[in-house]
Amino acid sequence: DPEFTDALAMFRASVAGRPDTVAVKYFDGVLTLRDLDELSDAFAVALQANGFGRGDRIALYLQNVPQFVIALLAAWKAGGIVVPVNPMSKQRELSYLLADSGATVLLCLEGLYSAVARDVVADTDVRFVVTTSELAYQSRDDERVFKGIERTRHEGTSDFVELIDAHSGGRPEPVSYDVDDVAFLTYTSGTTGTPKGAMNTHGNVTYNAQVYRDWCRLGPDDTVLGVAPLFHITGLIAHIAVSLLIPAPLVLAYRFEPGVVLDAIREHRTTFTVGAITVFIALSNTPGVTRADLASLRTVYSGGAPIAPSTARSFQDSFGIYVHNVYGLTETTSPSHLVPPRVAAPVDPASGALSVGVPAPGTMVRIQDDNGNDLPAGEIGEIVTSGPQVVLGYWNKPDETAHALPGRQLRTGDVGYMDADGWFYIVDRKKDLINASGYKVWPREVEDVLYEHPAVREAAVIGVPDEYRGETVKAFVSLKPGTTATPDDLIAHCKERLAAYKYPRGVQLIDELPKTVTGKILRRELRKRSG
Ligand code: ATP
Repeated sequence: DPEFTDALAMFRASVAGRPDTVAVKYFDGVLTLRDLDELSDAFAVALQANGFGRGDRIALYLQNVPQFVIALLAAWKAGGIVVPVNPMSKQRELSYLLADSGATVLLCLEGLYSAVARDVVADTDVRFVVTTSELAYQSRDDERVFKGIERTRHEGTSDFVELIDAHSGGRPEPVSYDVDDVAFLTYTSGTTGTPKGAMNTHGNVTYNAQVYRDWCRLGPDDTVLGVAPLFHITGLIAHIAVSLLIPAPLVLAYRFEPGVVLDAIREHRTTFTVGAITVFIALSNTPGVTRADLASLRTVYSGGAPIAPSTARSFQDSFGIYVHNVYGLTETTSPSHLVPPRVAAPVDPASGALSVGVPAPGTMVRIQDDNGNDLPAGEIGEIVTSGPQVVLGYWNKPDETAHALPGRQLRTGDVGYMDADGWFYIVDRKKDLINASGYKVWPREVEDVLYEHPAVREAAVIGVPDEYRGETVKAFVSLKPGTTATPDDLIAHCKERLAAYKYPRGVQLIDELPKTVTGKILRRELRKRSG
């Protein structure tokens, strides 16, 4: 059972117990739990004064800045639901999310307001727009240092820090939540279709924060590196909720740039993080980075995308850090399966896949065939998950909810199996299956083989239409700096290691694979590129 029914109660317990604990570090800026409490009280009062109340939605269109955490707590204190928006969103995407969620308040960075949001909000339910500068809260001496800086003021908007100043000392009416009250609407990233707002409840959030804390034995000596985007479920849970629960400092990296992240690790000696494997690939390809630079990182997890076993191995060889696999979806509020800390996940000798771990405590996982029958260990089928981290459903989408979440059991769309010892393996996503002359090819297996080639930095495999075979296997590859390999070399490498129907018939070298901000390779984009 969750220790706390809701995420606000979890935060309040931490403030009461350790008010002076540093909660957020951002460049030279430091906010304690007490600071967060006071600032979020003031912003909550400002929200209420502007008509925001129980069940209302506030969209946060922000990078990884301290305002994200303040606003999120304030929204909960005012009784509302948080809708995090990817700061890379363009007008079309932002307007879809605002319309779909029915958000009435928007908080965004000044630059994003003028570039994107200004032209969108008029057609939505947004009545109150608050803008903020990314320079706020970045200095230790004066958290409002940016006040002295000339700023662009936008008509019809309010400024975050000015609102807080104006309502400083105010206290919102107390609210309480039930485990099934919605804390976030997190939109699926749309790698597979139109984004849907997953309703992550307060119970989901506190439960998965506890899962990380208890499994990884996180305590006040830890420092969390916030390298995943905060708008994504990984950032919301593994960064914000975890650090508020422990409580321990969260170091925010403004954006993912290896240099910025390395500085954050070196300076703050961060001990725990969860990010996409692409983050760790990028770090290991950064010239000059040494073992000593990363030595403080005791517990490292990678989720959201498959890890090739060879990538995990080479990261460990280079830096002495074992990257643990964690598996989950937006709909499981981040982790549903994890590799236990300080344990190396097994690699299936038959498929070569690295295990994603075992189900988190209290989680029930079945493998089912297309008719919904349970399959025994060793057999491949769809992963179906239920447990305290599974969302209530999709916002305003009863049909999609009934289809993907019948009886609150999540049909993940991922294909996998469990071995005799209870370890789980993801074979691939259902819809990424390639059908080559009637033979099934899972891109993952081919990608894992490509990653074994010493020159391969990143690889993605898709099916392309083929006159004779129906579909044929095509690979997109980016190479490590300073290495060379021709498409023919890579095809030959795969041909030696894979059955004839599996090896790629074509390899295209590209500088950078298209990715979501969460580091997921966009196969959809690659399909478009190959016509
Ligand atoms: P959409 O649902 O719109 O396609 P998305 O897939 O990017 O968006 P997320 O919820 O962020 O949405 O991603 C969940 C998916 O990521 C899982 O269904 C699975 O396919 C993949 N995934 C997550 N963790 C792992 C892992 N450790 N190994 C392999 N795949 C993973």
